[in-house]
Amino acid sequence: MARREEELALNLADVRQRIAAACASAGRDPGEVTLIAVTKTWPASDVRLLYELGVRDIGENRDAEAAPKAEACEDLDITWHFIGQLQTNKAASVARYASVVHSVDRLRLISALGRAAHRAERTLRCLVEVSLDGDPARGGAVAADVPALAEALADEPGLVLGGVMAIAPLSMDPMEAFTKLLDSAAAVRAVRPAATIISAGMSADLEAAVAIGATHLRIGTALLGVRGPLVR
Ligand SMILES: *Cc1c(COP(=O)(O)O)cnc(C)c1O
Repeated sequence: MARREEELALNLADVRQRIAAACASAGRDPGEVTLIAVTKTWPASDVRLLYELGVRDIGENRDAEAAPKAEACEDLDITWHFIGQLQTNKAASVARYASVVHSVDRLRLISALGRAAHRAERTLRCLVEVSLDGDPARGGAVAADVPALAEALADEPGLVLGGVMAIAPLSMDPMEAFTKLLDSAAAVRAVRPAATIISAGMSADLEAAVAIGATHLRIGTALLGVRGPLVR
């Protein structure tokens, strides 16, 4: 095995072990938890190595980086997750490769994604991103706006309401933060019972996310290593 492949294999085994232990503590089946490898800042060759190691879900947060990477991996059966703040003028591009958009936080974006999905002849699963500290400056809707966004997503042709997503604010205990997400998750399921996705948990807080019932974990650093200083 080449060095990078070996490194990724070891990291993946470690992350899978952490998920298994967290599931055991929570009395959950690890099969309920999808691991999304967040490959932002890392090359398409790393996506390919992760794929060979069995990873099928890849997350990216910037369209300018994700679009060429998805194209370079077109021959692979990958589910691409768009997890970053999304401008409406990038919706058309994202709709061409992403299957799941985790960061839907405003009505204008819903209509833009709907039009983009229609033009790309694809269906996009969309999650309502919730701001857990009530400060939407970094993206995410306040909890009070979640029901209206869920209704709009459910009504938009080409989009499927999938569930909720959140990032634990640095200022909060992750367990406390993720527990707040459960109210929004219930509000979304009230609109569409099948919208059961809870996307929560990153490298540092995946255990807390599994404990509160997360179905999707977005893991970058623990799998791929520490990113360069310029990109979050
Ligand atoms: C970068 C990123 C992650 C992964 O974070 P790590 O701490 O590297 O695991 C997860 N979610 C979002 C939205 C991100 O931008």
